[in-house]
Amino acid sequence: MSNLLVNQQADFQFGDISQLSLYIHIPFCKTKCGYCDFNTYQGIEDLMPDYINSLCIDIKNWLSTIKYPYINTIFFGGGTPSLMSQTQVQQVLNTINSYGNVAPNAEITLESNPDDLTFEKCQEFYDSGINRLSIGIQSLQNNLLTILNRRHSNSQAVQAIKNGQAAGFTNISGDLMYGLPNQKTSDWENTLKELSQTEPMHISMYSLTIEEGTPFHKMFRSGSIKLPQDDEIADMYAWAQQFLHLNGYQQYEISNWCQPEHESIHNLVYWKRKPYIGIGPGAHSNLGNVRYWNIKSPSKYIQSISPNQTLNSLITENPIIEDYEILTDKQIASELMFLGLRLSEGIDCKLYYQDYGLDLMQIFAPEIEKLKDDNLIEVSNSIIKISASKIFIANRIFEEFI
Ligand code: SF4
Repeated sequence: MSNLLVNQQADFQFGDISQLSLYIHIPFCKTKCGYCDFNTYQGIEDLMPDYINSLCIDIKNWLSTIKYPYINTIFFGGGTPSLMSQTQVQQVLNTINSYGNVAPNAEITLESNPDDLTFEKCQEFYDSGINRLSIGIQSLQNNLLTILNRRHSNSQAVQAIKNGQAAGFTNISGDLMYGLPNQKTSDWENTLKELSQTEPMHISMYSLTIEEGTPFHKMFRSGSIKLPQDDEIADMYAWAQQFLHLNGYQQYEISNWCQPEHESIHNLVYWKRKPYIGIGPGAHSNLGNVRYWNIKSPSKYIQSISPNQTLNSLITENPIIEDYEILTDKQIASELMFLGLRLSEGIDCKLYYQDYGLDLMQIFAPEIEKLKDDNLIEVSNSIIKISASKIFIANRIFEEFI
């Protein structure tokens, strides 16, 4: 039976959701880092068993209603998924396997903190079916880790990667941050050099942003922390681009590098705007022209979850969904542009026309012309991409499409 679900309710166009990705949110952290504004909490560990049961009901609701979709990727994100026990990971994966067809080669990622990754814990995750670790290293300078309020040290981070590799993981991502308070260019270079020596197959690096409501925001406003100047941050990025290239990593997205064929398949789903369901409080989902997001409170999520709904009522009458939005064609076209242009390969307008019936070249003709004239993008046949030397100012380019 086809899972092409169109127009069950006037405005919903779910599109082909016979193949999906799943994001599973684990909103628990032992301590909260000073810069973090993710939907995650410390001191609620007691909720974990009930929380995992609720996640499983949520998963069952969606997958059984969609009728056993094919699952290509699963991503445990957080928060700190590495706080889960082996039994809890298995409980979630067993539920997904019971109500969905998990592809034999599905990418199954678990975000983790280095201080959780003992060799035994890595083995347990590996034996549970996790096949990719995304490790939140952030920096390999102990003084910067202290400023960030991270719980691990340089040696714990390096050991965590080694433990993962020894346990059998062949797909590990080391996740870094740059543009940190007090960070010198040499700190950043040393972090990248040391990380690359551990040979992770994937490296991501994000510039620190000061988010309102975080302790860092207060400290930044009071002047007790200072960030490097913009041109220093740009130099850090440029140095990393060159260093990683020389060390065999290919840049496939603005903030992501990998050894050949080790792109994050799950994240490519976001950038290529393929369907995904987010499970857990605060998680977002995108199915065709429908975007919806869950309530943020883990305890309310646990209290409100209820079984047995239809696909439409799962969105419109579901107490765990905070709100939903039906996107216009123009909004979808914008998303296709600013998500797809993040990728080094750019976007193939021909493919998107086949999938969405949207002619991006025509919809954005003036914007494309202007950016081409300014040498910010390259256009060749149906492919549009950001010029390699302009990637660092990609946000300016995206603004044209919003
Ligand atoms: S461990 Fe990650 S999710 Fe948890 S507080 Fe720190 S940055 Fe946020």
